[in-house]
Amino acid sequence: MKDLVDTFQRRINYLRISITDRCNLRCVYCMPIEGISKISYEEILRYEEVLRVVEAAVKKGIRKIRITGGEPLVRKGVTNFIHCLSKIPSVKDLSLTTNGVLLKDYAVDLYEAGLCRINVSIDSLNNTRFYRITRGGELDRVWEGIKEGMRVGMSPIKINTVIIRGFNDDEIIDFAKLSIHNPFHIRFIEFMPIGSNSIWSKEKYISSNEIKDKIESFKELHPIGKKEREGPARMFKFKGASGKIGFISPFSEHFCSSCNRLRLTVDGKLRTCLFSDKEVDLKPSLRGGGDSSELERLIDLAISNKPEKNKLQEKTPRKCSRNMSAIGG
Ligand code: SAM
Ligand code: SF4
Repeated sequence: MKDLVDTFQRRINYLRISITDRCNLRCVYCMPIEGISKISYEEILRYEEVLRVVEAAVKKGIRKIRITGGEPLVRKGVTNFIHCLSKIPSVKDLSLTTNGVLLKDYAVDLYEAGLCRINVSIDSLNNTRFYRITRGGELDRVWEGIKEGMRVGMSPIKINTVIIRGFNDDEIIDFAKLSIHNPFHIRFIEFMPIGSNSIWSKEKYISSNEIKDKIESFKELHPIGKKEREGPARMFKFKGASGKIGFISPFSEHFCSSCNRLRLTVDGKLRTCLFSDKEVDLKPSLRGGGDSSELERLIDLAISNKPEKNKLQEKTPRKCSRNMSAIGG
């Protein structure tokens, strides 16, 4: 098996797949209240088509797969799809990002299908605020899902939090404290300018360094060795804590030089950078009789266009036009 290396000598081994642009929540920073203009069912890749892409990608050197969305657990048949992915021998790491609303119902089946770890997004620990940010989400249900995930043996459970000034920055220390007695990885993600209707602004953005300083005003953080680094996350720990704390800083310290990612959008486009609208469409090949070698050629084509850096550092960061839910966060 080969390694997939791009023009800038980065080894590309990670594929994130958005299986749906639909969601059962409407987080204020991700989707407008009326939802997004949904991609029609015919346009969305069927699971068999996604599996063909994965098989070709694995031949090229992909080893890690993350399923995301929209909310991946709202798509019918997701458990069986996970089962098929987990049977592909070269897939060494399989994970899923969810808002956790349906996790309680799905945890057993997902685990039995081969999903051993999970990321859950929570942006407030306060029921009322959570309801407001997600426009209707019930935090208790998410916690029940997390407990069920732990009970069935999913590990680690990573909790992703997007901190937005004026929304939830007063909860930074409370989130960090969760790592003291629970084996969670609490990961603070910088708010990014994504989607055509994004509410992002410089005023709402808050850097990882500022978040980290706030946490350290409560208690010192100790860095965790590079070996334990989780992709782009800088990892830390409170002394004696059960869990860990991570910072993902796409804005303040873009990790482009070590970016190993490729994304498959819900409608079958390969995207090599979250912030670039350049895409390679796989659907004509998938539906027009193209074989695996044709898909491999298109994967090469996409990789050859992977930009060296994103454009987030520009004075007025450009918002990429697709929503996070269609690209796959
Ligand atoms: N629905 C699932 C969920 O919420 O976990 C998976 C899809 S969601 C698009 C994936 C992740 O992207 C979530 O953790 C969400 O908070 C994050 N996200 C969405 N918009 C974002 C933005 N503008 N900046 C940073 N993270 C964002
Ligand atoms: Fe849905 Fe996830 Fe976007 Fe929230 S962040 S609206 S849960 S896709």
